[in-house]
Amino acid sequence: MNEYDSDRIHNALDVELTGNPKDADYIIVNTCAIREKADQKALSSLGRYKHLKSNNPELIIGIAGCVAQLYGKKLLKQMPYLDFVLGPRAIPNLPQIISEIETKNTRKIDISFDIEEVFEVNPFHEEGRVSAFVSIQQGCNKRCAYCIVPTVRGNEVNRPMEDIVKETVYLLSKGVREITLIGQTVNSWKQDKYKFGDLLRTVGELEGLERLRFTTSYPRDITKRMVDAMKEVREVCSHIHLPVQSGSDDVLKLMNRTYSRQWYLDSVNRLRDAIPDIAISTDMIIGFPGETDSDFEQTLSLLDEVEFESSFSFKYSPRPGTVGEKLAKTDSIDDKISGERLSIFQEKQKYYTLKKNLERIGKIEEVLVEGFSKHDNNYLFGRTTHNRIMNFEGGGNLVGKTVNVRVEEGLPNSLRGVIPN
Ligand code: SAH
Repeated sequence: MNEYDSDRIHNALDVELTGNPKDADYIIVNTCAIREKADQKALSSLGRYKHLKSNNPELIIGIAGCVAQLYGKKLLKQMPYLDFVLGPRAIPNLPQIISEIETKNTRKIDISFDIEEVFEVNPFHEEGRVSAFVSIQQGCNKRCAYCIVPTVRGNEVNRPMEDIVKETVYLLSKGVREITLIGQTVNSWKQDKYKFGDLLRTVGELEGLERLRFTTSYPRDITKRMVDAMKEVREVCSHIHLPVQSGSDDVLKLMNRTYSRQWYLDSVNRLRDAIPDIAISTDMIIGFPGETDSDFEQTLSLLDEVEFESSFSFKYSPRPGTVGEKLAKTDSIDDKISGERLSIFQEKQKYYTLKKNLERIGKIEEVLVEGFSKHDNNYLFGRTTHNRIMNFEGGGNLVGKTVNVRVEEGLPNSLRGVIPN
């Protein structure tokens, strides 16, 4: 989501990127507020650019994204060198903001939510990109106890199908082959009689599209229409990212996730019945207030039961104004214990990720080639339908193409293969 927003910021300004901050006329730090660490990192990175103003008094420094939204005016007060504060929903107003700063020599803040055209920015396209995001939703209507997203991105607004199609067609015309539809709870997307499954079918049919992905799905919003579309539309990849957050019913309840462990397991089975080979990845929060040893055991046993392909796992971080923050006042988990649990979980996940990668050896996988490997220029890389990285030898003419690759090796985080003769 933040990557996509950074592109929108870039495109809204219609300027060239420079690799060196010293050459910049504008420095905009786009930020994430999901955990305290990201939040602090963003703020400290701004300080690094302050001194550039002494050489270039025209330089405009701004903060964008969720940290900007969260702290608003305070940031202008704390950082006299900061020229603007821009919330994630106000990106379309950026050109106006910059022009006012340049002409009136003022400082600006825009953290409004009531912008009609939240998606209104031309899609940005970097030449040679094989894969691109398309946002289909802003904000979130769920109220998970740990989460800051509804506070900083507002309630759910769904983008009209027509606009989603328009942006996708544009990207495909520029050579993009894989589209990832993004939203906070992407599968809750709807518009009048259309539901998410209908959107998958419509986008899946567009000429030139090889692959369709979407992230992130909310377990309770999985419907028959969605599963049927995933099964029947060839372009939809065999992968779903389905955050569970905990394996314990008690913790899920405290988190206000609105489903039980069993309900989640049933959803997994439903997906696997329809698409037997589907890869399932997840997010997990470790050390939510009140999490006991036995709750954590439940999380480990859920991992054993589902055997997630991969997961992102995080130590719980209290966020301002959330229900979780209140719970943490009385029931917070000792940082050392959270840390230990987190590494136990991650070790177990490593085992399953490797196990699943080893199981692919000998199989032929379709790989959409994204480019040359950063580590070795003789190697290309791309992803399989299950979203695994595959490295293999080949020439640049294959970039952007889908090729069959036989898996030779299963590594901890990727596969290595060859193109069979
Ligand atoms: N709506 C998106 C949320 C993105 S945040 C989604 O469902 O994926 C990505 C992940 O960050 C969440 O799934 C959750 O596991 C984690 N996360 C969110 N808030 C957190 C917090 N306060 N502390 C630790 N991890 C958190």
